[in-house]
Amino acid sequence: MAERIPEPVPAVALSGIRKSYGSVEVLHGVSLAAHEGEVISILGSSGSGKSTLLRCVNMLEVPNDGTVAIQGEEIRIDRRAGRPPRPSDAAQVQRLRSRAAMVFQSFNLWSHLTILENIIEAPVHVQGRDRKDCIAEGEALLERVGIAAKRNFYPAHLSGGQQQRAAIARALAMHPAIMLFDEPTSALDPELVGEVLKVMRDLAAEGRTMLVVTHEMAFARDVSTRTVFLHKGVIEEEGSSADVFARPHSERFRQFLARA
Ligand code: ADP
Ligand code: MG
Repeated sequence: MAERIPEPVPAVALSGIRKSYGSVEVLHGVSLAAHEGEVISILGSSGSGKSTLLRCVNMLEVPNDGTVAIQGEEIRIDRRAGRPPRPSDAAQVQRLRSRAAMVFQSFNLWSHLTILENIIEAPVHVQGRDRKDCIAEGEALLERVGIAAKRNFYPAHLSGGQQQRAAIARALAMHPAIMLFDEPTSALDPELVGEVLKVMRDLAAEGRTMLVVTHEMAFARDVSTRTVFLHKGVIEEEGSSADVFARPHSERFRQFLARA
Protein backbone atom coordinates (compact mmCIF):
# COMPACT_ATOMS: atom_id res chain seq x y z
CA MET A 1 0.00 0.00 0.00
CA ALA A 2 1.41 3.38 -0.98
CA GLU A 3 2.07 5.65 1.94
CA ARG A 4 0.66 9.12 1.72
CA ILE A 5 3.37 11.74 1.73
CA PRO A 6 2.22 14.58 3.97
CA GLU A 7 1.84 17.96 2.30
CA PRO A 8 4.54 20.36 3.51
CA VAL A 9 3.25 23.18 5.70
CA PRO A 10 3.28 26.42 3.68
CA ALA A 11 5.46 29.29 4.91
CA VAL A 12 2.35 31.45 4.52
CA ALA A 13 -1.21 30.41 3.83
CA LEU A 14 -3.97 32.93 3.19
CA SER A 15 -7.44 31.52 2.89
CA GLY A 16 -10.62 33.34 1.91
CA ILE A 17 -9.26 36.77 2.82
CA ARG A 18 -11.83 39.54 2.76
CA LYS A 19 -10.99 43.09 3.70
CA SER A 20 -13.21 46.14 3.80
CA TYR A 21 -12.44 49.76 4.46
CA GLY A 22 -15.64 51.19 5.85
CA SER A 23 -18.42 49.77 3.70
CA VAL A 24 -16.16 49.13 0.70
CA GLU A 25 -14.81 45.62 0.32
CA VAL A 26 -11.42 45.68 -1.45
CA LEU A 27 -10.43 41.99 -1.14
CA HIS A 28 -13.20 39.55 -2.00
CA GLY A 29 -11.98 36.23 -0.64
CA VAL A 30 -8.38 35.74 -1.71
CA SER A 31 -6.54 32.47 -1.08
CA LEU A 32 -2.83 32.07 -1.66
CA ALA A 33 -0.14 29.84 -0.21
CA ALA A 34 3.62 30.27 -0.45
CA HIS A 35 5.69 27.18 0.14
CA GLU A 36 9.25 27.28 1.34
CA GLY A 37 11.58 28.52 -1.37
CA GLU A 38 8.82 29.94 -3.53
CA VAL A 39 9.06 33.46 -4.90
CA ILE A 40 5.61 34.75 -5.76
CA SER A 41 5.11 37.96 -7.69
CA ILE A 42 1.85 39.78 -7.15
CA LEU A 43 0.90 41.97 -10.09
CA GLY A 44 -2.07 44.21 -10.67
CA SER A 45 -3.17 47.73 -11.47
CA SER A 46 -3.08 50.46 -8.88
CA GLY A 47 -5.93 49.98 -6.41
CA SER A 48 -6.38 46.26 -7.12
CA GLY A 49 -5.60 45.37 -3.48
CA LYS A 50 -1.98 44.22 -3.68
CA SER A 51 -0.71 46.20 -0.69
CA THR A 52 -3.77 45.35 1.36
CA LEU A 53 -3.25 41.65 0.69
CA LEU A 54 0.42 41.82 1.65
CA ARG A 55 -0.39 43.81 4.79
CA CYS A 56 -2.90 41.17 5.84
CA VAL A 57 -0.06 38.64 6.07
CA ASN A 58 1.48 40.38 9.07
CA MET A 59 -1.70 42.02 10.38
CA LEU A 60 -0.83 45.56 9.39
CA GLU A 61 -4.38 45.17 8.09
CA VAL A 62 -6.70 42.77 9.87
CA PRO A 63 -8.91 40.83 7.45
CA ASN A 64 -12.66 40.90 8.06
CA ASP A 65 -12.91 37.27 7.07
CA GLY A 66 -10.57 34.40 6.24
CA THR A 67 -7.46 33.03 7.86
CA VAL A 68 -3.75 33.76 7.84
CA ALA A 69 -1.29 31.08 8.93
CA ILE A 70 2.48 31.51 9.18
CA GLN A 71 4.33 28.17 9.09
CA GLY A 72 1.11 26.44 10.04
CA GLU A 73 0.27 28.71 12.96
CA GLU A 74 -3.02 30.50 12.43
CA ILE A 75 -3.24 34.08 13.65
CA ARG A 76 -6.15 34.40 16.04
CA ILE A 77 -8.53 37.23 15.18
CA ASP A 78 -11.23 38.68 17.39
CA ARG A 79 -14.23 39.38 15.18
CA ARG A 80 -16.90 40.30 17.66
CA ALA A 81 -19.78 42.10 15.99
CA GLY A 82 -19.99 45.87 16.18
CA ARG A 83 -16.32 46.74 16.07
CA PRO A 84 -13.39 46.37 13.69
CA PRO A 85 -11.64 43.00 13.71
CA ARG A 86 -8.40 42.85 15.63
CA PRO A 87 -5.84 40.22 16.59
CA SER A 88 -6.83 38.38 19.76
CA ASP A 89 -3.28 38.02 20.95
CA ALA A 90 -0.83 40.90 20.46
CA ALA A 91 2.10 38.76 21.57
CA GLN A 92 1.31 36.19 18.90
CA VAL A 93 1.22 38.89 16.23
CA GLN A 94 4.55 40.30 17.34
CA ARG A 95 6.11 36.84 17.28
CA LEU A 96 4.72 36.00 13.84
CA ARG A 97 5.55 39.42 12.44
CA SER A 98 9.23 38.76 12.90
CA ARG A 99 8.79 35.59 10.83
CA ALA A 100 7.26 37.62 7.98
CA ALA A 101 9.49 40.66 7.50
CA MET A 102 8.23 43.50 5.33
CA VAL A 103 10.16 45.74 2.95
CA PHE A 104 8.19 48.86 2.01
CA GLN A 105 8.17 51.04 -1.07
CA SER A 106 9.30 54.03 1.00
CA PHE A 107 12.00 52.10 2.94
CA ASN A 108 10.58 53.14 6.35
CA LEU A 109 13.98 53.24 8.03
CA TRP A 110 14.06 55.01 11.39
CA SER A 111 15.51 58.42 10.55
CA HIS A 112 16.96 59.04 14.03
CA LEU A 113 18.97 55.79 14.01
CA THR A 114 22.11 54.98 12.05
CA ILE A 115 21.95 52.24 9.44
CA LEU A 116 23.51 49.68 11.79
CA GLU A 117 21.21 50.75 14.64
CA ASN A 118 18.24 50.33 12.30
CA ILE A 119 19.34 46.79 11.58
CA ILE A 120 19.89 45.63 15.16
CA GLU A 121 16.82 47.37 16.63
CA ALA A 122 14.26 44.57 16.25
CA PRO A 123 16.67 41.65 16.79
CA VAL A 124 17.83 43.20 20.08
CA HIS A 125 14.64 44.80 21.37
CA VAL A 126 11.91 42.60 19.94
CA GLN A 127 13.64 39.25 19.64
CA GLY A 128 15.82 39.75 22.72
CA ARG A 129 19.00 38.56 21.07
CA ASP A 130 22.52 39.36 22.21
CA ARG A 131 23.54 42.83 21.10
CA LYS A 132 27.13 41.92 20.20
CA ASP A 133 25.97 39.01 18.04
CA CYS A 134 23.42 41.23 16.34
CA ILE A 135 26.05 43.87 15.57
CA ALA A 136 28.39 41.27 14.06
CA GLU A 137 25.56 39.82 12.02
CA GLY A 138 24.30 43.27 11.03
CA GLU A 139 27.71 44.20 9.71
CA ALA A 140 27.88 41.01 7.69
CA LEU A 141 24.42 41.74 6.24
CA LEU A 142 25.44 45.26 5.27
CA GLU A 143 28.50 43.79 3.59
CA ARG A 144 26.22 41.42 1.69
CA VAL A 145 24.00 44.16 0.35
CA GLY A 146 27.06 46.25 -0.49
CA ILE A 147 26.75 49.15 1.97
CA ALA A 148 29.10 48.18 4.81
CA ALA A 149 30.77 51.60 4.58
CA LYS A 150 27.46 53.28 5.46
CA ARG A 151 26.94 51.53 8.79
CA ASN A 152 27.30 54.69 10.89
CA PHE A 153 25.43 57.01 8.54
CA TYR A 154 21.86 58.16 9.04
CA PRO A 155 19.32 57.14 6.39
CA ALA A 156 19.00 60.68 5.01
CA HIS A 157 22.64 60.50 3.89
CA LEU A 158 22.10 57.45 1.71
CA SER A 159 20.68 57.25 -1.80
CA GLY A 160 17.28 55.63 -2.22
CA GLY A 161 18.86 52.45 -3.54
CA GLN A 162 21.20 52.28 -0.55
CA GLN A 163 18.31 52.92 1.85
CA GLN A 164 16.30 50.13 0.30
CA ARG A 165 19.25 47.75 0.53
CA ALA A 166 19.57 48.74 4.21
CA ALA A 167 15.86 47.98 4.65
CA ILE A 168 16.38 44.55 3.09
CA ALA A 169 19.32 43.92 5.45
CA ARG A 170 17.07 44.99 8.33
CA ALA A 171 14.44 42.48 7.27
CA LEU A 172 17.05 39.72 6.93
CA ALA A 173 18.37 40.45 10.42
CA MET A 174 15.11 39.08 11.86
CA HIS A 175 15.79 35.65 10.33
CA PRO A 176 12.36 35.70 8.72
CA ALA A 177 10.68 32.62 7.29
CA ILE A 178 9.21 34.76 4.55
CA MET A 179 9.98 38.20 3.17
CA LEU A 180 7.25 40.53 2.00
CA PHE A 181 8.13 43.22 -0.52
CA ASP A 182 5.66 45.98 -1.41
CA GLU A 183 6.88 47.62 -4.63
CA PRO A 184 10.44 47.83 -3.32
CA THR A 185 11.77 49.63 -6.40
CA SER A 186 8.84 51.92 -7.24
CA ALA A 187 10.17 54.92 -5.30
CA LEU A 188 13.65 54.73 -6.81
CA ASP A 189 15.23 56.72 -9.59
CA PRO A 190 15.54 54.39 -12.61
CA GLU A 191 19.32 54.13 -12.33
CA LEU A 192 19.01 52.77 -8.76
CA VAL A 193 16.45 50.06 -9.48
CA GLY A 194 19.00 47.53 -10.68
CA GLU A 195 21.07 47.45 -7.48
CA VAL A 196 17.98 46.58 -5.41
CA LEU A 197 16.72 44.00 -7.90
CA LYS A 198 20.13 42.35 -7.84
CA VAL A 199 19.93 41.88 -4.07
CA MET A 200 16.42 40.44 -4.46
CA ARG A 201 17.58 38.10 -7.22
CA ASP A 202 20.36 36.83 -4.94
CA LEU A 203 17.83 36.20 -2.17
CA ALA A 204 15.62 34.27 -4.56
CA ALA A 205 18.60 32.25 -5.77
CA GLU A 206 19.45 31.18 -2.25
CA GLY A 207 15.97 29.78 -1.80
CA ARG A 208 14.29 32.47 0.28
CA THR A 209 10.53 32.47 0.43
CA MET A 210 9.30 35.79 -0.90
CA LEU A 211 6.00 37.51 -1.70
CA VAL A 212 6.77 40.43 -3.99
CA VAL A 213 4.35 43.10 -5.12
CA THR A 214 6.04 44.57 -8.15
CA HIS A 215 5.72 46.32 -11.46
CA GLU A 216 9.03 44.86 -12.64
CA MET A 217 7.80 42.43 -15.28
CA ALA A 218 11.24 40.98 -15.94
CA PHE A 219 11.61 40.12 -12.26
CA ALA A 220 8.17 38.49 -12.18
CA ARG A 221 8.80 36.52 -15.36
CA ASP A 222 12.41 35.49 -14.84
CA VAL A 223 12.96 35.38 -11.07
CA SER A 224 9.69 34.46 -9.41
CA THR A 225 8.49 30.88 -9.46
CA ARG A 226 4.84 31.85 -9.47
CA THR A 227 2.90 34.91 -10.57
CA VAL A 228 -0.46 36.07 -9.30
CA PHE A 229 -2.47 38.78 -11.03
CA LEU A 230 -4.92 40.60 -8.81
CA HIS A 231 -7.83 42.51 -10.32
CA LYS A 232 -10.31 44.43 -8.16
CA GLY A 233 -9.61 42.30 -5.12
CA VAL A 234 -9.84 38.93 -6.85
CA ILE A 235 -7.09 36.66 -8.18
CA GLU A 236 -7.70 36.79 -11.89
CA GLU A 237 -4.73 34.74 -13.08
CA GLU A 238 -2.25 32.53 -11.28
CA GLY A 239 0.33 29.99 -12.30
CA SER A 240 3.99 29.29 -12.79
CA SER A 241 5.60 32.49 -14.04
CA ALA A 242 6.78 30.77 -17.20
CA ASP A 243 3.21 29.66 -17.99
CA VAL A 244 1.30 32.82 -17.20
CA PHE A 245 3.67 35.01 -19.19
CA ALA A 246 3.79 32.64 -22.16
CA ARG A 247 0.10 31.69 -22.16
CA PRO A 248 -2.06 34.05 -20.11
CA HIS A 249 -5.65 32.84 -19.79
CA SER A 250 -7.22 36.05 -18.60
CA GLU A 251 -7.94 38.73 -21.15
CA ARG A 252 -7.48 41.36 -18.44
CA PHE A 253 -4.03 40.01 -17.63
CA ARG A 254 -3.15 40.08 -21.33
CA GLN A 255 -4.19 43.72 -21.50
CA PHE A 256 -2.20 44.44 -18.34
CA LEU A 257 0.90 42.86 -19.89
CA ALA A 258 0.41 44.78 -23.10
CA ARG A 259 0.34 48.07 -21.18
CA ALA A 260 3.31 47.23 -18.94
P1 ADP B 1 -2.70 48.47 -4.57
O1 ADP B 1 -1.60 48.23 -3.61
O2 ADP B 1 -2.97 47.33 -5.50
O3 ADP B 1 -2.52 49.75 -5.34
P2 ADP B 1 -4.30 48.89 -2.21
O4 ADP B 1 -4.31 47.60 -1.50
O5 ADP B 1 -3.40 49.95 -1.69
O6 ADP B 1 -4.07 48.64 -3.76
O7 ADP B 1 -5.77 49.49 -2.20
C1 ADP B 1 -6.91 48.74 -2.59
C2 ADP B 1 -8.14 49.63 -2.44
O8 ADP B 1 -8.35 49.91 -1.06
C3 ADP B 1 -8.02 50.97 -3.12
O9 ADP B 1 -9.28 51.32 -3.63
C4 ADP B 1 -7.62 51.90 -2.01
O10 ADP B 1 -8.07 53.20 -2.26
C5 ADP B 1 -8.35 51.31 -0.81
N1 ADP B 1 -7.62 51.53 0.44
C6 ADP B 1 -6.37 51.11 0.72
N2 ADP B 1 -6.00 51.44 1.97
C7 ADP B 1 -7.07 52.10 2.51
C8 ADP B 1 -7.34 52.70 3.78
N3 ADP B 1 -6.44 52.68 4.76
N4 ADP B 1 -8.55 53.28 3.95
C9 ADP B 1 -9.47 53.28 2.97
N5 ADP B 1 -9.29 52.74 1.76
C10 ADP B 1 -8.10 52.15 1.51
MG1 MG C 1 0.15 49.25 -3.25
